[in-house]
Amino acid sequence: MKGKRLAGDRTVGRLVKWLRMLGIPCALLAVKTPGDVPEDLLLLTRATSLAGPRTLLIPYEKPADQLRFVFKELPYLWEEIRPFTLCLLCNERLLEIAKEEVFGLVPEHVFRTQDKFRRCPRCGRIYWPGSHHKLMRKRLEQVLGCSLTAGQGGSAKRS
Ligand SMILES: [Zn+2]
Repeated sequence: MKGKRLAGDRTVGRLVKWLRMLGIPCALLAVKTPGDVPEDLLLLTRATSLAGPRTLLIPYEKPADQLRFVFKELPYLWEEIRPFTLCLLCNERLLEIAKEEVFGLVPEHVFRTQDKFRRCPRCGRIYWPGSHHKLMRKRLEQVLGCSLTAGQGGSAKRS
């Protein structure tokens, strides 16, 4: 299963978002039958009607349990954690940009107090480490029972 791109459907929306926060790309996909899942994808879903070789059925309702389950089933993911390096909307890898470039694009107090910024190459959304970032890191660390390396930067705040 290693090497396959991950996707999730609406039944595991929060899980998809959490994986993106961890820096693990996970597309959002809408499929009706197991045959609709592209060959190079592994679909995470709660829908038993989609069971098949390209599907990982998630037997839990709570996102925290779902996330733990995914890491248990796909242990190689531990090495792919890059916290807060993906656009949560587009699933794209964020690019670091110079502070000067975001002048006028982020709130003034943010520009004054932050030095590290990243931008999504697709939607242009700008990310920076913020309080939300700290809370999410804590939550994810709690769920996974590990410490996520600091200094990755990037935050899920809308500009
Ligand atoms: Zn984006």
